[in-house]
Amino acid sequence: MTKSINEVILTDKFRIMSDIKFAQPPAGVEGQGFFATSLDQVIGLARANSIWPLPFATSCCGIEFMATMGTNYDLARFGMERLSFSPRQADLLMVMGTVAKKMGPVLKQVYEQMAEPRWVLSVGACACSGGIFDTYSVLQGIDKVIPVDVYVPGCPPRPEQIIDGIMKIQELVKNESLRRRYSPQYQELMASYNIQ
Ligand code: SF4
Repeated sequence: MTKSINEVILTDKFRIMSDIKFAQPPAGVEGQGFFATSLDQVIGLARANSIWPLPFATSCCGIEFMATMGTNYDLARFGMERLSFSPRQADLLMVMGTVAKKMGPVLKQVYEQMAEPRWVLSVGACACSGGIFDTYSVLQGIDKVIPVDVYVPGCPPRPEQIIDGIMKIQELVKNESLRRRYSPQYQELMASYNIQ
């Protein structure tokens, strides 16, 4: 009796599989959690080198950011040439400049519209602490309304400092566990800002 083509393929497949010899895993890479840890690293590496920033530039520090985007400093080297002016397609919120208290709710809304995972870079003294504007109308640091990952000091910070801040964000992104956003600590942080 002649075999059908499917039978031949299956028989060959089982024969080939039975020929396969599995090597023992090297010490230290077997056991629970190894696969998940590697996946963390691969995804972290991809995310860190393809960040899409949303520039929330309100005053002079924004001009420094424009210089950072220019040919001399060339932020595109970090995979960031694609700026997003839509929060839904951004994962790094860069706040640069003086933020008035009236703008606080707007900034928070922008942050809330960004999908997880999202990071925040506070650029310049004004965004970090209100800077020289210790007045009734200026927000004394954006961390009053949203959580901040990295602060860049200076009035204004030079483009090199902004790049340094971005590289620190990249380190965070690379090393962040995929499970961090589900952790009780993270939920607690969001709850302290009244963010769902
Ligand atoms: S930190 Fe200085 S340069 Fe930056 S927005 Fe404030 S006043 Fe302007």
